[in-house]
Amino acid sequence: MAEETKAPAAATSETRPAERSERPERSDRGPRGPRPGGGPGGPREGGRKYFRRKKVCKFCVEKIEAINYKDVRLLAGFVAESGKIVPRRLTGVCTPHQRRLSTAIKQARNIALLPFAGRAQ
Ligand SMILES: [Zn+2]
Repeated sequence: MAEETKAPAAATSETRPAERSERPERSDRGPRGPRPGGGPGGPREGGRKYFRRKKVCKFCVEKIEAINYKDVRLLAGFVAESGKIVPRRLTGVCTPHQRRLSTAIKQARNIALLPFAGRAQ
């Protein structure tokens, strides 16, 4: 331990391992430190805005094979207020029916039966 008195460079090199040994004890990056961003699992994020329905494909239940683009009432149930098509995970429509539904909605948009996404707010 006589080296630290000899050169200042040796002193700086010796402080580094001392810091390293202290850091895990302080645990600056510890999981329980106060997070500025809040992070996931906030206390008041629990409320769900959309209620969960039974996830059953409506078209399978009613046995609708072909979705008519002229059936605006039916299509409007799968279009959000903004005009967007509601994703399958929210409506519960099965994949083949969602595909037909989306084409039908797009056809209905084209003849102005339904709004395009992003137009109305
Ligand atoms: Zn279906």
